[in-house]
Amino acid sequence: MTTPRPLIAGNWKMNGLAASLDEARAVAAALDAHPVGARVALCPPATLVERMAQVLAGTGVAIGGQDCRAEAGGAFTGDISAEMLAEAGASLVILGHSERRAGHGETDSDVAAKVAGALRAGLEPIVCVGETLEQRQAGQALAVVTGQLRGSLPAALADADFAVAYEPVWAIGSGLTPSLAEIEEVHVAARATLVELFGAAGARVPILYGGSVKPSNARDILAVKDVGGALVGGASLKAADFLGIINAA
Ligand code: PGA
Repeated sequence: MTTPRPLIAGNWKMNGLAASLDEARAVAAALDAHPVGARVALCPPATLVERMAQVLAGTGVAIGGQDCRAEAGGAFTGDISAEMLAEAGASLVILGHSERRAGHGETDSDVAAKVAGALRAGLEPIVCVGETLEQRQAGQALAVVTGQLRGSLPAALADADFAVAYEPVWAIGSGLTPSLAEIEEVHVAARATLVELFGAAGARVPILYGGSVKPSNARDILAVKDVGGALVGGASLKAADFLGIINAA
C-alpha cells in the first residue's frame, strides 16, 4: 500500500485582502519552478476563494474553505454551503477548527454534519481535533482527541478522501508546540482510532499536525511517525514562510 503524499495546507483565517493574492501567486510560481512531493493547499477567507481559485487554476495549489454549513442552501443568513465553496473553485474545506468549536459552539455532531455536507458537494474535508491546555494538564489529551474523532467523523468517510488535523488548542498561534514525543503519542492514538473506525482505509488518512508550525520546526515535526502533513496558520500568510514549510515536507 502506498503512503499518500503529505498535505501542507495553509489556513489564512480572517486575514487576507485582494493584495494577498500576490503571496498565493508567489507560492504557486515557486512550486512551478521547483516541484515538490507534497500536496499544497491554501484556505483563504470565503471572499477570496473564487478569485484565488481563478488565480491559481492550473497550478499545483488547491483551494479550500475554512468552514461550511451542513445544509446545501436555504434561509441561513451569513452562512455558506459546501456546494457554494465547490462552485467557487474549492476542492477542500477545513471543518471543526478549534476557533469554530470554541467561538461558535460547534459540537462533534455539528462537525460530523458539516463533513457529510462537504462529501455531498465533493469537497475533501480536513477535520480538526485537539485538546486545550487544561485538558492536557489533566492527562486527557488522548481521550479528548480520540473522542473528537469518533464524534466528528461520520461513517460515510469510509469511501472518501479526507484528512484529520491534530491541533492542540494551546499551540495555535502561541509559538508553543508539544514535544515531538507528545506529537507522536497523539498521532499514533489518532491512527489507531482511524483504523478502528475505517479499517484499512483509516491507515492511509493523512493526519496533519497544526499549531505554531514554522520553517524552523517543520522538518522535525513532519518526520514524526504518523504525521502526514501540516495545517499552517500564521506562517502560511507569507509565501517565503509557507514555502519553507512546504520544502521541509
Ligand atoms: P498557527 O495556526 O499556525 O498560526 O498556530 C494553526 C491553525 O490554527 O490552523
